[in-house]
Amino acid sequence: MSGHPQRIVIITAPSGAGKTTITKHLLERFPDKLAFSVSAATRAPRGREVDGQDYHFMSVDRFRELIDAGAFLEWEMVYEGKYYGTLMSEVERIWASGRAPMLDIDVKGAIRVMEQHRDRCTSLFIRPPSLEELERRLRQRGTDPEASIRARLEKAGFELSHANRFDHVIVNDDLPTALAEAEDFIGKFLSKAP
Ligand code: 5GP
Repeated sequence: MSGHPQRIVIITAPSGAGKTTITKHLLERFPDKLAFSVSAATRAPRGREVDGQDYHFMSVDRFRELIDAGAFLEWEMVYEGKYYGTLMSEVERIWASGRAPMLDIDVKGAIRVMEQHRDRCTSLFIRPPSLEELERRLRQRGTDPEASIRARLEKAGFELSHANRFDHVIVNDDLPTALAEAEDFIGKFLSKAP
């Protein structure tokens, strides 16, 4: 949309690092400038998740059709057999509203978007204080089966090793501090002239 810089905000973290809380906070803090990009995903809804709000939940066949149709900005098989992807239509809808899409995506997807859209994006990586603390939080959440917790912890090790590729890293050991730091960093990016 003319007059509106088409920017992208990326937030990445190992599952359980507190990313959802930080994402919600940023969306509430900058409602006129940021909007959540609802990804497509082939996993089953968890807990109170709502289709079309948390994810566009779909079958693997449908997801593959969308890949073939070129509908994704990026997509990844984040976990074995489970696809996740950022829909171009989401990004364009949000740009058309004059806001920047907030992409809550995994490390590989984030790196892909950063490589392709370096000039228009900024990226935030949320670190848990430690892998032990991450495991504790994942178990406390109580929504994931054991195998899924193990898969998430394994992936976390890989993700943490790529933290230095992001524009800003926040260690989430004290939530209010992490929220303030995220707000400060993203606020500066959003208020910068394009
Ligand atoms: P969860 O199953 O816990 O909701 O998400 C698992 C992982 O998939 C998280 O790291 C999340 O950021 C990532 N993810 C969610 N949507 C997308 C997406 O559209 N693309 C990519 N690459 N990763 C995503």
